Amino acid sequence: MRGLLVGRMQPVHRGHIQVMERILNDVEEVIIGIGSAQVSHSLKDPFTAGERVMMITKALAENDIPASCYYIIPVQDIECNSLWVAHMEMLTPPFEHVYSGNPLVQRLFHEKGYQVTEPPLFNRKSYSGTEVRRRMLAGDNWEKLVPESVVEVINEIDGIARIKQLARKEV
Ligand code: ATP
Ligand code: MG
Repeated sequence: MRGLLVGRMQPVHRGHIQVMERILNDVEEVIIGIGSAQVSHSLKDPFTAGERVMMITKALAENDIPASCYYIIPVQDIECNSLWVAHMEMLTPPFEHVYSGNPLVQRLFHEKGYQVTEPPLFNRKSYSGTEVRRRMLAGDNWEKLVPESVVEVINEIDGIARIKQLARKEV
């Protein structure tokens, strides 16, 4: 069986990795859909799809999850919610089971007959993309909320300077 997890993963954090491990207790393979793939260079969505692929790939290797267990598929947004499941199906390997905490995602897959599970949230106060980005901008300790390999990727692409520059106003 194959399961699907969708998220923007801006950036991938330890909560995402824990939920991926949990999904892999249920199914043999997990499809990781990187949502809003076309968006980058904004405070809510600072990283490109390619940068996010790199972060997720390295974070899964760091956590000893073999490459044969997952597929990472960037998925652009479409304007039309009623066609979104078909859009996902066009891009991904076939799957039977959907894991999501997002009510809209849950509803759309449920209406198309998929088995949908809401996975438990791990340490949600800290393991949240919004909290990681807030700390990056504030100069607080964000590094412990993400796998070490994600810290390395963000350093490689000068991600903190990017976020701080995006927060500046034109004078
Ligand atoms: P943002 O604050 O930017 O929305 P996020 O932490 O909610 O970031 P997403 O990429 O939106 O991350 O998350 C996609 C999915 O990942 C969620 O619907 C949820 O199922 C799962 N997820 C996110 N955070 C956690 C967590 N701490 N524990 C378990 N699952 C999580
Ligand atoms: Mg979210």
